[in-house]
Amino acid sequence: MNHDLVIIGAGPGGYIAAIRAAQLGLNVACIEKERMLGGTCLRVGCIPSKALLESSELYKEVEHSFKDRGINVGSLSLDLEKMLSQKDRTVKTMGGGIDSLFKKNKITRYSGHAMITAPGKVRVDDGKEVTELEAKHILIATGSQPSTLPGIELDGDRVGTSTEALTYQQVPKHLVVIGGGVIGLELGAVWSRLGAKVTVLEYLDRILPTTDMEIANEAKKIFEKQGIEFQLGCRVTGVKANKKTCDVEIADGKAIRCDRVLVAVGRRPNTDQLGLENVGIEVDKRGFIPVNDHFETSVKGVYAIGDVIGGAMLAHKAEEEGVAFAERLVTGYGHINYDTIPSVAYTNPEIAAVGKTEEQLKEAGIEYNKGSFPFLANGRARAMGQTEGRVKMLADKQTDRVLGVHILGPRAGDLIAECAVAMEFGASSEDIARCCHAHPTLAEAVKEAALAVDKRALNF
Ligand code: FAD
Ligand code: NAD
Repeated sequence: MNHDLVIIGAGPGGYIAAIRAAQLGLNVACIEKERMLGGTCLRVGCIPSKALLESSELYKEVEHSFKDRGINVGSLSLDLEKMLSQKDRTVKTMGGGIDSLFKKNKITRYSGHAMITAPGKVRVDDGKEVTELEAKHILIATGSQPSTLPGIELDGDRVGTSTEALTYQQVPKHLVVIGGGVIGLELGAVWSRLGAKVTVLEYLDRILPTTDMEIANEAKKIFEKQGIEFQLGCRVTGVKANKKTCDVEIADGKAIRCDRVLVAVGRRPNTDQLGLENVGIEVDKRGFIPVNDHFETSVKGVYAIGDVIGGAMLAHKAEEEGVAFAERLVTGYGHINYDTIPSVAYTNPEIAAVGKTEEQLKEAGIEYNKGSFPFLANGRARAMGQTEGRVKMLADKQTDRVLGVHILGPRAGDLIAECAVAMEFGASSEDIARCCHAHPTLAEAVKEAALAVDKRALNF
């Protein structure tokens, strides 16, 4: 079978690249080894985790916030099976949506494991049949999988990764999370809200290592108030799984007994059995595939995008790369600005950021002004009863150009979009401050933070 472009992997990187390339007139095929399209993000990542975060948050709200508002509901109980099936339905529906998009865009879909056998040649093996494909261009978008630690054997049950933590059939009594990154905090929050005792063990002396330090420290205090325990500077040396319990062993400390362990110490690229050696592509020290500005690997006609090339392991980063790749391939031009890729942790409150942290600016010796505005002084946040956190804006001292925005607070993930757009257009803090923001909205906190850069916040 001959195609202009064969894409390996139908995650957010691969399937979006397929759609854009098809829109631009290429004859595109996409190979996926799992039954459902959508990749990690749809099957065991962004979408199922957000479904559980929403459900568990609603449960917590009914338990705690409704009474304060005079809303009396009958006795509260948890039907975990139903909660999990709502999550599964959401995933299934969205998977069907990608099937339809493939049909609409006339993308040929192959099911099975893909391997590059030679330049321009890909073999698909579905366990029963082998299909040989020929392609002018090959795009690797095989994503990533959870990493683990020496001394920890993942048993897919008591000791597991995010994949298992999305499907626990019972609320753990005590969940130990190894790793205080995004997965640890999001999934730790889910099970904590549903009643588990949650202990997060983090190797560093802080949580969320890539987040602005001030924001991460403030968030940690809020999560502690919510009942999550943290042990920082904690080196896990092993986990022993017993029949009904596990012992998490730590250097210089007593082992912690619990009934579930979630290992959330990062993810590693999927490059095994991909046939990279058949075409002479070498991975870097951390296993990622090196690419140039056009996402081309060291081999002509073989490209890579998404988690498998490293950088921020985010669905929207993979998507942007997918679009930029297809446009560069067909038109010679394609745009991606790695300085304006937002990141969001969907905790409560959410933590969102775009651009540089204060630590990065200091390290680079860039002088900046800082404006900060607390949600405590925002009318909408007050009405919502969600006043924790702040918007912090960092702007260049000489030019006032916005260099970074960090938000801890309600709907931070939605608020950051405005900041990313502003930064993409090279806005100054004054530009944002001069834009009318509707009242009463959470977005006014962004405007006020922009005013605060010039020390003229109006409501604080
Ligand atoms: P993937 O989504 O991993 O897709 C790669 C696909 O390639 C997979 O379907 C795989 O089966 C297939 N594949 C691999 N090898 C082969 C082969 N040889 N042949 C055929 N097919 C193959 N990101 C966000 O931006 N927001 C979030 O809220 C978010 N939440 C997350 C929550 C969790 C629990 C996890 C684990 C991740 C989350 N992420 C989130 C990260 C996000 O899922 C990834 O960054 C994103 O999926 C990467 O997209 P990708 O296309 O590069 O790879
Ligand atoms: P992460 O890199 O965000 O965090 C891993 C944490 O584990 C770090 O804080 C690290 O210091 C710690 N750690 C590493 N080794 C350790 C050890 N031996 N003992 C204790 N702690 C240790 O990785 P993650 O949370 O596993 O997430 C993986 C990827 O998935 C991330 O790159 C993230 O971007 C992506 N993701 C994104 C979202 C989102 O955008 N909302 C949600 C989930 C996952």
